[in-house]
Formats: sequence, structure tokens, C-alpha cells
Amino acid sequence: MTFSDAQQAALDAIDEASGDLRTLSLDIHAHPELGYEETHAHAALTDYLEGVGFEVERSAHGLDTSFRASSGNGGPVLAALCEYDALPEIGHACGHNLIAIASVAVGLGLRAALREAEVGGTVLVLGAPAEERGGGGKIRLIENGAFGGVDAAVMLHPGMGDEVRPSSLSHRGLTVEFRGQASHAAGAPWRGVNALDAMVLGFAALGLLRQQIQPTHRVHGVITHGGDSPNIIPERTEARLLVRAPTREEVDTLRERVLACFTGAAQQTGCKLEATWSDSPYENLRQNPALADAYRESFDAVGGTIRPGRGGGSTDMGNVTQVLPGLHPHYRIPATSGNHTRGFTDAAATEEAHDATIRAAKALALASLRAFEDPTFLDAIHTSFATGETGGL
Ligand SMILES: [Zn+2]
Ligand SMILES: [Zn+2]
Repeated sequence: MTFSDAQQAALDAIDEASGDLRTLSLDIHAHPELGYEETHAHAALTDYLEGVGFEVERSAHGLDTSFRASSGNGGPVLAALCEYDALPEIGHACGHNLIAIASVAVGLGLRAALREAEVGGTVLVLGAPAEERGGGGKIRLIENGAFGGVDAAVMLHPGMGDEVRPSSLSHRGLTVEFRGQASHAAGAPWRGVNALDAMVLGFAALGLLRQQIQPTHRVHGVITHGGDSPNIIPERTEARLLVRAPTREEVDTLRERVLACFTGAAQQTGCKLEATWSDSPYENLRQNPALADAYRESFDAVGGTIRPGRGGGSTDMGNVTQVLPGLHPHYRIPATSGNHTRGFTDAAATEEAHDATIRAAKALALASLRAFEDPTFLDAIHTSFATGETGGL
């Protein structure tokens, strides 16, 4: 395939920046930060974007670690979203250091192409903190107006396969806390009300429930407080869970059944249960069919091959795609094990992962460029969003 001058300008700009983006990616990888605490990544990304000439607003949209970098004028407006939060203990095991540079690369490529083609439009690179662990950074961005006037939002995610329009599950977080009565575990255990027993019973009931739920549904959690000392009957325990299903409605049905596991455990042990549902439920992704088709073509044009892997997570990009057109493809990086493992943390720092990121970013920049150059394509993006068209896989 031969590229137009504007397309070639996008590809060249991304290639030229590749070395700096590699440095940026490794810097973020070496400084893993949890959601809403990504001060190092925020500084590194905003300094870089400002250095290459974007107009940068730090701590944008009411969030300390969000930013808004823009280039160009007027419409259309396209936003490429950076994620840069890591996981506790295992660092950048979801490869968000690569997501961060992928969207910077898309921004650089589009800016160069718009200049070459002499067409109007605005390219935004948005800093979206706290995607992991139900943090819901993009939900806060939506609430705080970050997407006002934006025609489409795009981002990429590294994984074990090359997928144009992977699905993602809707999910809702649950915190359960049991309160019982402390007592000497040997001297007077009969005076105690055991909050750990309640938690164990709740998790046992959850294990049995799993046999009776849909294969597409997921419930999982960790005990974040299990008691204070083996010689005290635990008076307080706490767990955090996630309830997931393909749609918000299914999550709402499932979460009643999950809650029943814990209310039953409270009754059996005499503990008090406090259950708190997260105020940041994640929606399922609505992949825009027009953008998806364009990405598929572009991915092919830059030498990629679609090779589906096994997905299965959730993302607050789902919420974004419920309120405006968006695309969130997955691309494969060579890794010995999947997302949220130490093997993936190692993989996210390799040269091969960087090259795969650059290639996917080129494809996304070329696909997005059509929204600026071709008014009928922009119309198709909006029309398919408005009619709820989903297109083929
Ligand atoms: Zn993740
Ligand atoms: Zn992720």
C-alpha cells in the first residue's frame, strides 16, 4: 500500500519520536504508581508533550494526575487517551506505560498529518489516571466535562492478541466489612463474635455460587483485613470484590446474589455486615464500527496481522464509549504470561513490546486521520454511534 503525503507524515513523525517515547515508557515502567498517585508519570508525560510543542494543562479536569495536551484549532476534535497507573506489588503488569506512549504517538502522528494536509481540527492527548482496581478516572473525566466537543476518543491496550474490537465486561466494586466482638481466643472464645468466620463463610458461599452463574460472569475478591492477632477473636474483617458481567443490567442482577452470600454469613455468625458498592461502575465497551473498520485496514497497511487472543477484563474506557464514539483495540506484545502477571510486567519493558506499540499507534493514527480528512467518514462515526450500530466482530 502506498501512503498519501499526510499519512506518510504521520508515520514519519511517530518513527522520529520512537527513541524518546521508548525512554519515556521505560521511565514510567521503572516508577510504578497506583491510581490517582501517578505524579511521576504525570510530570514525565506533560514535560515531554510541552517540550514537543503541545499546549499542556497540568492537573486538568479537577484531577491532580490528569492532563490535557492539545494541538490545532477547531473541529473535528479527536482525543487519544493515556493511561499510566500500575498495580500493587507487580508494577506495570498491565503495560500502561505502553498505553501512555501509544496515545502520545497517535497525537504526534495526527498533528504532523494535519499540518501536511493543511486541514483543520484539534488533536487532544488526555491523561486518564486510575483505570486499574475500579479507580474510574475516566468516569471523573466524563463528569468534569473533559469530552465536551470531542468527536471521538481512542486508545490502545497491550495484551496477548491483536484484536480490533475486543469486548470488555461491565463491573461494579463491592467492599464488605463484618463487625463482631473481640475476645480472648483461648480464655473466653465463647464471648467472641468472629468476624473472620463470617468472611470465610461469605467466600465459601461465593465459591458455591460460581457454579450457578453464567460462564461470562465473574466474581472475585481479596480479604484486605483478616483480623489483628491469632490470640484475639477477630472483631473486624474487610474484603474487596469485583462483580463482572457483559452488561450493566446483568451485573445488577448478579450483585444481588453476591450480596446474599455475605448477608447469610452475617446471620450465621451474629456479625454486623456493612456492604458498600463502588460509585464508579465500569460500563462495557461500545466499539465504533466505522473506526474499527478503518483501524483494521490501517493495521494491515502497517504490517500487522489480526490474531485474536483471550480478553476478559473491564475498563472505564467502556464508560467513555457509552457517551461518545470510541475505539479501544488490543495489540499483542510478546509475553510469557498475560496481563496482571509478573511475566507481563517484564514484557512491557522489552524492545519487542515497544515496536508492537509503535506499529499499533501508527495504525490508530492513520485510522483517526480519516475523521479529519473525510467528512463522510466523520458522519459515519457519529451515525453508527447514534443508531447503536455495533457492526461485525
Ligand atoms: Zn489491567
Ligand atoms: Zn490495563
